[in-house]
Amino acid sequence: MNQRNFLTLPPTTYPFDDKLHEECGVFAIYGHPEASNLTYLGLYALQHRGQESAGIATSDRREIRCYKSMGHVADIFTPEQIACLPGDLAIGHTRYSTAGDTVLLNAQPFSVACNKGQIAVAHNGNITNAGDLRRELEREGSIFQASSDTEVILHLVARSRERTLAGALREALLQLDGAFSLVFLARDRVIVARDPHGFRPLAFGELQMDNGKAYVFASETCAFDLINAEYVNDVEPGEMVCIGPEGMTRERFAPEGPHAQCVFEHVYFSRPDSIVFGRPVQESRENLGRLLAQESGVDADVVVPVPDSGVAAAIGYASESGIPFRQALIRNHYVGRTFIEPSQAIRDFGVKLKLNPVRHLLEGKRVILVDDSLVRGTTSRKIVRMVRNAGATEVHMRISCPPTISPCFYGVDTPRENELIAANHSIEEIREYVEADSLAYLSLDSLRRAVADNNKEYCYACYTREYPTELVQIEELVAARGRRR
Ligand code: AMP
Repeated sequence: MNQRNFLTLPPTTYPFDDKLHEECGVFAIYGHPEASNLTYLGLYALQHRGQESAGIATSDRREIRCYKSMGHVADIFTPEQIACLPGDLAIGHTRYSTAGDTVLLNAQPFSVACNKGQIAVAHNGNITNAGDLRRELEREGSIFQASSDTEVILHLVARSRERTLAGALREALLQLDGAFSLVFLARDRVIVARDPHGFRPLAFGELQMDNGKAYVFASETCAFDLINAEYVNDVEPGEMVCIGPEGMTRERFAPEGPHAQCVFEHVYFSRPDSIVFGRPVQESRENLGRLLAQESGVDADVVVPVPDSGVAAAIGYASESGIPFRQALIRNHYVGRTFIEPSQAIRDFGVKLKLNPVRHLLEGKRVILVDDSLVRGTTSRKIVRMVRNAGATEVHMRISCPPTISPCFYGVDTPRENELIAANHSIEEIREYVEADSLAYLSLDSLRRAVADNNKEYCYACYTREYPTELVQIEELVAARGRRR
């Protein structure tokens, strides 16, 4: 393979205006006197879902207040700020975006006053028809502040002729395509909803108190664990849950349709200690590793994970193959955004900053290196080199999912197609590029088995190019990407 191809790949940021991907975490709570504090803790547990900005909106049943800022949850909120967010209802959001518009204007929750009263919203996912809806709304006089697709929802709610917020929301949600797990806050109620395909997760839990219970919602159950809430079940695809003074109602806002839950939540995105789509993530990942060992076994001395993403799959691989598991790559967990770069270029500085090999575990060893995914291939190439330079005699790369061949339009940050190494190169070419002695991916069938997808409830579009929503829309999006290249 001509390796120069890779050196001329375009930069890794998306040069387009439309938001096509937004990895986020959402949280909501109803009926707890310390709502803002618990939302802060919930967001803290969901920090891995977005590190760019975070925000909390609360209601004391008279007024909605909102505070949001750029940065990490623990850096944004001080006790004084939390104290300025009184009330027993709250929603929160943590956001990660690579669209080049990383401005505070796009930080969530969005909070507005409209003819339905004061409302705030936070969103995880990506609305694939947001561009069309926005153009139509603008033509009719709506004014937008941010470039994020979430603002469209607020405009649709405000324009609805329905008298109640729930009615207006129902009407708005039916106009949206794509992925959304949404949490809304009104003065006296919390409403949450999940798109009819159920792309992104949204869990429901309860928190027992001395004098009753509070209701909580979160992208992942790890947020419940931190606040001692109990996971009850998921908000179903196409379901809207309203909690107000009159109690809780759960209703379908859209007819039952095929589900398309994001399998990448289990492969990489969610925390292993979470239950996502009703399944423990750690179990799925160990299954991935076990099946990978069955499919692509190789004679070697040690199984080494790429931390942290490859750890659970490597545990599964090691237990299935009987080859010892060794943490021979150590991750520095304190790598921040700012560090002083050496004035003289150090080779592979970025990866070295994050990972360091344990030489005595690798020297003279045939190594199976397990990672969850290989996207552009640039990281794997550096890690394979690092392991070899530390004395490994052979490096066998094993990836616990199928080749990533197509971009995600439903809320995961994947590069555009021409940057996805597997979209344009054979496995042998990729092996050569990452300089491994062998390379194997997991098969799609095994991925399905690992998450026990017996009823075809998952989305595998990034591995198959088969998008579960309207193709016309997707082709428009792909074409839009192409035009901006
Ligand atoms: P590369 O092949 O160089 O693009 O990088 C692959 C690495 O990126 C793997 O270790 C994955 O764990 C990680 N990765 C895969 N998908 C994502 C994503 N959507 N966001 C952040 N990291 C990711």
